Amino acid sequence: MIKDKEPRKGQGGVRKGYGSEPPVVCSFCGRTSQEVNSMVAGPSAFICDRCILSSVEILRKEISAIRHPEKPAEPAFQPRLKSPLNIKEALDHYVIGQEQAKKSLAVAVYNHYKRLDAHDWSSEDDVVIEKSNILLIGPTGTGKTLLAQTLANLLEVPFTIADATSLTEAGYVGDDVETILARLLHASDFNLERAERGIIYVDEIDKIARKSANVSITRDVSGEGVQQALLKILEGSVVGVPPKGGRKHPEQQLININTKNILFICGGAFEGLDKIIARRVSKSSMGFGSKVKDKQTGYDPEILKLVTQDDLHDYGLIPEFIGRLPVMSALEPLDAVALRNILVEPKNALVKQYKRLFEMDGVELEFMDEALDRVVDIAIERGTGARALRSVLENVMIDIMFELPTLKDVQKCLITPETIDKTSGPVYEKKDGEERKIA
Ligand code: ADP
Repeated sequence: MIKDKEPRKGQGGVRKGYGSEPPVVCSFCGRTSQEVNSMVAGPSAFICDRCILSSVEILRKEISAIRHPEKPAEPAFQPRLKSPLNIKEALDHYVIGQEQAKKSLAVAVYNHYKRLDAHDWSSEDDVVIEKSNILLIGPTGTGKTLLAQTLANLLEVPFTIADATSLTEAGYVGDDVETILARLLHASDFNLERAERGIIYVDEIDKIARKSANVSITRDVSGEGVQQALLKILEGSVVGVPPKGGRKHPEQQLININTKNILFICGGAFEGLDKIIARRVSKSSMGFGSKVKDKQTGYDPEILKLVTQDDLHDYGLIPEFIGRLPVMSALEPLDAVALRNILVEPKNALVKQYKRLFEMDGVELEFMDEALDRVVDIAIERGTGARALRSVLENVMIDIMFELPTLKDVQKCLITPETIDKTSGPVYEKKDGEERKIA
């Protein structure tokens, strides 16, 4: 909604109708200027910002129907939603493992959008179902961002990712929380209604823990201020957002976004949180904390599942902030089997993608099992979860994809463990059946 401007003289202009002037009423919906943000005046009529936005939406649909006559007119915006089971099964196509996190997310997301629908017909004395923003805790590269992104894709809602470390309190150099909302608005093609039902993933949320509570955090600006700033949008408020983002365009008109129905998924590695939990648990029940830690990450995967709000407070998150993230879920470090599956199983698995690319050049691509195991071994050494899989594979495949289109008559390309180690090229099979190994 467009913020108020100075009334213009003569025809047209934006009116607020304060003071002793007669009340200005929108000629379309009948709302007074006090009930809306802006009122545009014509020669003998007024139109409020809400009606302007609705008109834009109607025109947008009509223009789209004219340009794409085969496409049916868009239905009123409604995320696609069947049941938590259905959501979980859809996530399974893209995210390997993380069963508990997928279940919690499926239920939280289902309830979130059910709550929005319920709101449309609830009476005032109805129970108010609070928003269930979600906190995902787990080592890097275990699928936190992927889960949030996949959910947004499945539900066909706008999605954006923000990095908590780049956020600052208003007045400091850096992004402010309004910038996140501006990005969501972009992601929804400036469709306010869609943006207000979107999903925002806030990464590295652990890095804005208070310094005093967690000495390992090295942050100039107190994380607490950023938590306070985020709190505002997490709990639901109307925020004036510069559509172009940032504070660099102070002249731009603000669009009011209501964050009440935006689902926030926050994620972080929370290094050291396992020790806080272990300390608490061993105090209350002797003997815990002796679990075997994950070799790769140093995490105790089981203990993270016992996280409570108090532990997060001890870590350095303020209670109000934690209170706005009522759904918590711990992700597990990915073991070799999971990493191996990630290479081949998801709908858009890396191996499937490369195979498709080679197919386009008329070449069959095959990976030896041992080659994939080698990729996994190297990824584990890097300690960044599944994130390393792509870079390890990419590093090898770039050279092959560079030379392949200029090689004649190749019908098959076999990737061996040596190819992964770069001690030897792949084995090419020519159309006449001849094999050629490139050193
Ligand atoms: P995080 O946010 O936990 O640091 P990401 O979700 O960004 O990690 O993961 C990085 C990449 O690794 C993803 O884009 C995806 O390709 C892959 N990945 C990570 N975890 C999984 C998983 N559980 N299942 C499938 N792919 C995964």
